[in-house]
Amino acid sequence: MRKRKRKSTPTTLFGMSIIRRKSGLRKKAHIAPRGIKRPVQRKYPLKPIPTTKPRKRRKKTPLTLAKEKLEETQKALVIKIYGKDCYTCPQKNLEGMNCQLGHVPWPRSELSVRCIFTLAFTRIQCFRCNINCGGNGAKAFVRMIKEGIDVDAMEAQNLATKGKTTPLKWFYEKRQEYQEKLLELQAGK
Ligand SMILES: [Zn+2]
Repeated sequence: MRKRKRKSTPTTLFGMSIIRRKSGLRKKAHIAPRGIKRPVQRKYPLKPIPTTKPRKRRKKTPLTLAKEKLEETQKALVIKIYGKDCYTCPQKNLEGMNCQLGHVPWPRSELSVRCIFTLAFTRIQCFRCNINCGGNGAKAFVRMIKEGIDVDAMEAQNLATKGKTTPLKWFYEKRQEYQEKLLELQAGK
């Protein structure tokens, strides 16, 4: 008579069965047979998965932050020096969304990084002039010439600085310079 074989592997671990009930072993993943694909017929169309999480925004880099802060100070200084009237149309004392820091006479896209953040290349403009009229460069140019501004020198300055890398330090120093100027002007009044 043969002895009953002893079970070689335990069926429980910490009091819980390690053998799956009913279903037994894990089933093999279903592999669809090759051939003609039939369209899956559904009674109801699949509901779109609700997106509860807001889209993750990219964290601002120190450079982006420095640029934002510099532009903020630059705008405040431009307002202090040149006022809040639109440079290229008769609109006066602009507020909120209608009060923008516009780039004149060339649009921002034509300027070097340094010129973008240079006072001489910016004035306050209304939404229509800055956004809808793309900066209204022609009008700005005429006015600047009338005011005796050396536009040629500005162009040369832009060409000389175009493509030049601008270190983070430059943005910090420029902001410091503008803040000091702003304080000076505020104290003078
Ligand atoms: Zn305007």
